[in-house]
Amino acid sequence: MVMEQTDCVVIGAGVVGLAIARELAARGRETLVLEAADAIGTGTSSRSSEVIHAGLYYPRGSLKAMSCVHGRDLLYEFCDTHHVPHRRTGKLLVATSAAQVKQLAAIAARAEENGVLDLLPLSRTEAQALEPELECVQALFSPSTGIVDSHQLMLALLGDAERNGAFCVLKSPVESIDVLRGARFVVRTGGDAPTEIEAACVINGAGLGAQALARRTHGLDPRWVPPLYLARGNYFNLAGRSPFRHLIYPMPDRAGLGVHLTLDLAGQARFGPDVEWIDALRYDVDPARADAFYASVRAFWPGLPDGALQPAYAGIRPKIAGPGESEADFVVQGAAQHGVRGLVNLFGIESPGLTASLALAQRIGEMTAHG
Ligand SMILES: Cc1cc2nc3c(=O)[nH]c(=O)nc-3n(C[C@H](O)[C@H](O)[C@H](O)COP(=O)(O)OP(=O)(O)OC[C@H]3O[C@@H](n4cnc5c(N)ncnc54)[C@H](O)[C@@H]3O)c2cc1C
Repeated sequence: MVMEQTDCVVIGAGVVGLAIARELAARGRETLVLEAADAIGTGTSSRSSEVIHAGLYYPRGSLKAMSCVHGRDLLYEFCDTHHVPHRRTGKLLVATSAAQVKQLAAIAARAEENGVLDLLPLSRTEAQALEPELECVQALFSPSTGIVDSHQLMLALLGDAERNGAFCVLKSPVESIDVLRGARFVVRTGGDAPTEIEAACVINGAGLGAQALARRTHGLDPRWVPPLYLARGNYFNLAGRSPFRHLIYPMPDRAGLGVHLTLDLAGQARFGPDVEWIDALRYDVDPARADAFYASVRAFWPGLPDGALQPAYAGIRPKIAGPGESEADFVVQGAAQHGVRGLVNLFGIESPGLTASLALAQRIGEMTAHG
């Protein structure tokens, strides 16, 4: 067994882990990223809607609200300066019944509390002037919502981190972490070349694997590990050209933002994600779910043709609140919570984690700056 040494170990090369590695390396810290898979970004980060959220929905003062609004600005700037393909498409949030108009007003008020001040209320006629095939009673237009090529983003984050001396090692599943005295850790990897790495700072950004890894962190009180609930989100592609140029979102439901229309940078439309509670990681999309998708989409696009939806892909939300429970905030635990200096665990980094990634990274850079 080889014993290596470094300053910081980041576990997980998803968008959040890579943003954290970039931040730590930019602060002059020797940083090693350990990723279980054979490529970066094969987890939740490559299975999202790729939307840069404006920050409308989250409770005032929550980490989701703050990191989404701040992260959105950081992300647009990063994409501009690093030539990451992205577009400010704008989004229409639509009320499709009189009952939903109140909900729309509540979201507008919450957005304002969160510092999102650019929303435009639209009548049905004004919304249809933007999107002739749209049906709604009222809408809100969010000009600062956009889309990003998430894989190019992760490559750019890794590139920046590497320029500042960070290394990313693939096929290195972390099997356990030992907390030693004096804010030191031993991180043990499995895979083809098992290694022990001594480090002063460990960031657990393992996404869907974060809870399992935290439970294998010897020296961390397990009561700090929240439960993990898996909420799969399925997507269907639209066959043929999209008549829409903006993203279209219905009212959010309890566990997600509702089946929305999003576009990729080539203009291809897809619909999703729905919410399917599951017991094990599985990414296949059941074609039978199409019936529910037709019904949801036709509420705002009555002209959706029969046979136009094709099963696409699925992502899994790493939720820490189960079915029927209230939505939980992101959890970022450092020494102030669990008492282990140098250790940061991230749990429940579901949407808007892509948008929030650079803001979360800044926060973790500050948390770990003084050991
Ligand atoms: C359906 C869906 C739609 C979404 N849409 C959006 C959106 O439009 N906009 C937005 O802002 N957010 C969105 N999100 C949220 C966003 O995708 C996530 O918050 C973000 O990708 C999480 O990144 P991550 O790096 O934490 O996790 P991941 O991308 O899952 O990365 C974790 C990595 O850790 C690795 N790993 C796990 N265990 C170990 C171990 N023991 N050792 C080493 N490596 C390990 C995994 O292989 C993985 O690569 C969506 C999420 C879902 C599920």
